[in-house]
Amino acid sequence: MALSKTIRGQMKESSWIRRMFEEGIQLRKVHGADKVFDLSLGNPILEPPAEFSRELSRIASDPATGTHRYMPNAGFLDTRAAVAKSLRNDSGTPFTADEIIMTCGAAGALNVTLRALLDPGDEVVILSPYFAEYLFYVSHQNGVAKIARCDNRFMPDPVRLAAALSPRTRAVIINSPNNPTGVVYPESAVAAMAKLVRDAEEKFGTEIYLISDEPYRKLIFTSDPYPFVFRHHPRTIVATSHSKDLGLAGERIGFIAINPACPDKSDFIDAAVFAHRTLGFVNAPALMQRIVAHLQDASIDVDVYRKKRDFLYGALTEIGYECVRPDGAFYLFPKSPLPDDREFIRLLQSKLVLAVPGVGFGTAGYFRISYCVDDRTLEGSVKGFRDAFREARSDAHR
Ligand code: PLP
Repeated sequence: MALSKTIRGQMKESSWIRRMFEEGIQLRKVHGADKVFDLSLGNPILEPPAEFSRELSRIASDPATGTHRYMPNAGFLDTRAAVAKSLRNDSGTPFTADEIIMTCGAAGALNVTLRALLDPGDEVVILSPYFAEYLFYVSHQNGVAKIARCDNRFMPDPVRLAAALSPRTRAVIINSPNNPTGVVYPESAVAAMAKLVRDAEEKFGTEIYLISDEPYRKLIFTSDPYPFVFRHHPRTIVATSHSKDLGLAGERIGFIAINPACPDKSDFIDAAVFAHRTLGFVNAPALMQRIVAHLQDASIDVDVYRKKRDFLYGALTEIGYECVRPDGAFYLFPKSPLPDDREFIRLLQSKLVLAVPGVGFGTAGYFRISYCVDDRTLEGSVKGFRDAFREARSDAHR
């Protein structure tokens, strides 16, 4: 069929997670679902907090006229005001509803933001390892992705980041807590990146936006305050969602927040609202906006993920895997015991454990584990990880 060649090519490149998903279905058919340990998908397992069902029932039992109609493309004013209030309290930055646009998840927020900022050929710097969808979001919205590799603790590398910035750079995307590594950037790393961006703006006489993709912001296992980007650079935009912190990934609800100190921020808001409408999102789901307006201070129980992190990190490092201990999200990104991460993933698969090769996140030689699975799957996977590690280190693989 005469499909877009670009899409055909991108589908081929992006198939790692989908491939693992499909192979998981096959393995379950052959071996039985309880024998297969699938840690390949980042699909949050925790149900939304109790407040969610309460709000949903309240709205359903007393439907106001017009509940399901169109609304302003930026979203309901009272929802945007509730988001602004919560963000004001958490970050100390004086947000108002005017700086918030409700979106269809963080994915919608990122696409709208990029669409509003980019002209054909504009560059967007992405740190690797990266969430693979960034490449396609940037390409779909006219841009060119430039990759800056992180250091071996998965922290931004200032030298590589500086080298990736050019007169065509329009934006830098950062993601902390990170998918796929789970690392959380400290304030010093955020400040250092913002300084590089400001220096580049001065050097090239351009404007560069720091886009912070934060769907895991509330999934942090330490008590350190979250280092918000706003105080480090005026041109900062947060793209985020309630997919993970409220367990609402399928409901597609998130938001964009632009720094109140950003010069000409109303130009960005107008462009983003236009892009939201004309990309076909039109507005974020009405029912979800009404609910999350009352849930800004609620969250799933993060301790459940912390315990899973402790269990799996402990088990893997005891076996001998090398792994940075992550402080957030629900991923581990260990070093592959074989030089070829794809070969190791196949070996793991032969032990009925599914994970994703690092090459799918722009970083060969590693692999990603999603530990947002039930405890039976988590505990059951350890034997496969042990057997695969031993076999990889045995003579057969030298
Ligand atoms: N950004 C990152 C880093 C993610 O891991 C995800 C989803 O897994 C998204 C964005 C998209 O999230 P959403 O479901 O809110 O669109």
